[in-house]
Amino acid sequence: MGNLYTGIYGKYLRLKAGLKGDRQYDILNSLQKEQWLSAEELQRLQVERFRKILAHALEKSAWYREKLKGVIDNPHDIASIGDLSRLPLLTRDDLQDNYKEIVCSGCEGVYEDASGGSTGNPVVFYHDQWYRTFSQAMENLSLSWMGVAKGDRTAVFWGADRDFHEYSFKEKLALKMERLRILNSFNVDEAALDRFLKELQSFKPHYIFGYASSLHLAAKYINSTGKYRIRPAAVKSSAEMLYDYQRSDIEKVFGTKVYNFYGSREVNNLAAECPAHEGLHVSASGRIIEVVDKNGLALPDGEMGYLAVTDLTNYTFPFIRYLIGDMGIRKTEPCSCGRGYPLLEKITGRSSDILTFGGKFIHGEYFTHLFYGQPGVKQFQVIQETEKNLLIKIVSSGSYFDPEQIVTTIQEKLGPKVEIKIDFMDTIAPLKSGKYRFTINKTVL
Ligand SMILES: [Zn+2]
Repeated sequence: MGNLYTGIYGKYLRLKAGLKGDRQYDILNSLQKEQWLSAEELQRLQVERFRKILAHALEKSAWYREKLKGVIDNPHDIASIGDLSRLPLLTRDDLQDNYKEIVCSGCEGVYEDASGGSTGNPVVFYHDQWYRTFSQAMENLSLSWMGVAKGDRTAVFWGADRDFHEYSFKEKLALKMERLRILNSFNVDEAALDRFLKELQSFKPHYIFGYASSLHLAAKYINSTGKYRIRPAAVKSSAEMLYDYQRSDIEKVFGTKVYNFYGSREVNNLAAECPAHEGLHVSASGRIIEVVDKNGLALPDGEMGYLAVTDLTNYTFPFIRYLIGDMGIRKTEPCSCGRGYPLLEKITGRSSDILTFGGKFIHGEYFTHLFYGQPGVKQFQVIQETEKNLLIKIVSSGSYFDPEQIVTTIQEKLGPKVEIKIDFMDTIAPLKSGKYRFTINKTVL
């Protein structure tokens, strides 16, 4: 932090934003203060912002008007975050079937986006400029927690093919000025990874970010070859569930802390880690994250449940209590850093990645622990086909291992009623998005 180039580049960005009427730095200044408000003050702020977006949705969105008829007529009936439980959840199915009716009338400067091709049911939604500006500010806030600013030398290990295209001259220049080096880790081969790491060795990134699996792939490669020494000040993991073993491997190889970051295409900048690493701080200035049961009722802190996200900044396409498809746990204790933004103890993963047998959740991490350290297993994927059927796909490395013993161990965990089958494969392809799924629950939408 604080080097000459970054300082000048930061001033340039602020000047440019000022000339364009872009308010992200004004918002960032507010966020710098709001993050230190007490939990009670933040809740008051959130209720105030929520009432505004609810009033807007009731007035301008045909879908919300219909859906909330008789449920709530006056936004001022919402007195606390707990009152959100009175409102229905917004599901991916709702988005798929009704996205045109959800869009607010009279909105300008709208950006269309889509997500979730990976889970088989893509959804379309919209963002507006206010959402984008606010998101930028929140991203800069979380970067500041890592001691990073735009313009610091950055290496990116990305994994989504669709984010890549041929760059125009102007874009290339912008990347150069921002001092970014990007590797598309989607289907990357060893030679390309090697070239990129060689480049980074001399580029000396101040900061690295990428998909958890891409970062882990690079860490494993560096570790096994022993060829490269890359020492950034911080590493940010995003876009995928970060497993504990991935975190520790990445931290060891890069000699620094990993900051986990949580966002999504629909609503970005949801939560991020601060230097205390005691959980992920919800970006409470712009987002509300509730942990709820299937019926939308808030669960006590410390219990795992579905994450329902409310975006306080998107006035074009209101996301109110959106079941984003992830599960997580809220933390009871506040963070020792003193920030008032509430903590998520853990994002436990996609709800479609968590297996459910006999009402019990079996976390994907159970299987990564089981298979990790089995040299005979090169790759695996565990699929819950039905309430009673589990399919395990395995790519063997050629070394010896005992599949019977794996079945016995899993059988003990799941109970005798579950039928377990092993299929040996030549390869298990990643998803189109570049993400790799260790576990898939087909019984969950
Ligand atoms: Zn903290």
